[in-house]
Amino acid sequence: MSVEKHMLAAGTPYATPYYVVSSAAPGPVFMIISGVHGNEPASTRAAQGIVNRFNRGEWVLRRGKLIIVPLVNVSARRKGIRGKPDLNRTFPVGTGAKAGHPLSAAVFQLAKRYRPSWYLDLHEANGLSQLNPRRVGQTLIISTGSRAAGIAKQIVKKMNLSIPNRAYRFNIRRRERAGTSRMAMQRLLGAKAVTVETCWSLNFSLRVRLQSEIVSHFLRAAGLTG
Ligand SMILES: [Zn+2]
Repeated sequence: MSVEKHMLAAGTPYATPYYVVSSAAPGPVFMIISGVHGNEPASTRAAQGIVNRFNRGEWVLRRGKLIIVPLVNVSARRKGIRGKPDLNRTFPVGTGAKAGHPLSAAVFQLAKRYRPSWYLDLHEANGLSQLNPRRVGQTLIISTGSRAAGIAKQIVKKMNLSIPNRAYRFNIRRRERAGTSRMAMQRLLGAKAVTVETCWSLNFSLRVRLQSEIVSHFLRAAGLTG
């Protein structure tokens, strides 16, 4: 197993590191991004923590390849804002369509190069989905026709077994929103794409842990680990 560090959008004001974890054995390609929005720090901490675990050999990739971009929008993170424009509305919406921002273009190019069969976009949100059906905090979001639906449901079930506080439990949400990376990866690249959302009002370390556990479940389900 090897972990290589590269730069996305190298030589531009948008440059940000990404990591390629490669197993010696062939298998699926799995891509994870986080920090598309600059005010969702637990997801970036979780993604960086996952890179570190592979680097230290605490997690082992048994087959396939894992691409991780822990912090897509560096400047929005520095300012602690969601980002303008909202990057998650600028991914290409159809075949031949262009991304509306250099960063979403770079992320999409990276995905096009590696053709992931699995794709996770880590986020955080306001509100608890258990308490308000309109909120997406503590959810896995999928879009119509998603081939990730079955596994996402199983993972929600597994996660919820370990969450004693009912209000903090996860739900599946179905959303259609053009310009999101989830929709672009599913529709244009055929990936099983899921958006992961923890809730801002939870303790930071709990959010980081929940994000990591969800990723860990997906990696196992996709056959890359365990
Ligand atoms: Zn977000």
